[in-house]
Amino acid sequence: MNKKITIAIDGFSSTGKSTLAKQLANNLGYVYVDTGAMYRAVALFAMQNGCIGNEYFDKEALVNSLPTIRLQFRYNPEMGFAEMYLNDTNVEKDIRNIEVSSFVSKVATITEVRAKLVEQQKAMGKDKGIVMDGRDIGTVVFPDAELKIFMTANGTTRAKRRYDELLAKGNAVTFEEVLKNVEERDYIDTHRDNSPLVLAEDAIEIDNSHLTREEQFEIVLGLVNEVTKTE
Ligand code: C5P
Repeated sequence: MNKKITIAIDGFSSTGKSTLAKQLANNLGYVYVDTGAMYRAVALFAMQNGCIGNEYFDKEALVNSLPTIRLQFRYNPEMGFAEMYLNDTNVEKDIRNIEVSSFVSKVATITEVRAKLVEQQKAMGKDKGIVMDGRDIGTVVFPDAELKIFMTANGTTRAKRRYDELLAKGNAVTFEEVLKNVEERDYIDTHRDNSPLVLAEDAIEIDNSHLTREEQFEIVLGLVNEVTKTE
């Protein structure tokens, strides 16, 4: 049997990281962890508890509340993936809306938030056999990951994908709103001081603007096989 490895997938917003990560995890029998869901759940908590709104962001109140925030992934056999729970409430649907998307990158700049989530993420990966996606997985969470993928695609393609996804889920949004949000999050994610989104030196970059899901999956599966053969 091939040795289990750690697969880190980073990249810009809406580049299809989670689609690829789920395909890999299903195919390899690995655990899949969507770290964006964790940051989104903290952003939802901040909104629900008056720490963040359109005109304000009370960072101190959020940091003080961190010990009361419990994040868990619970596997849903019907959906075939683990859903996000915030203090025992299933928030899988709520964390995907455009309001949470508009606050999450600000929340993700806070050092204390990142420290808490990174600690939890490292613990989840201690036995390997994991595919984790996010912005700092190959650089901060698993700098020793055997395979690091960095995904990109042009901005319009990404916004169109996210827009179609939101429409399919019944969200009332405009394409312009989604494009603006994707661009804003990319800007904040690449410019923050703590763990900005950068291409790790040893990451393999994949631009999937013109690749189908299947083509992309085959490319990455080939990379996994190469790594596990030599591991
Ligand atoms: O992956 P997703 O788009 O759901 O992530 C939402 C936001 O969470 C990102 O735009 C980023 O601000 C933040 N994030 C992060 N580090 C991660 C994962 C997500 O800062 N590892």
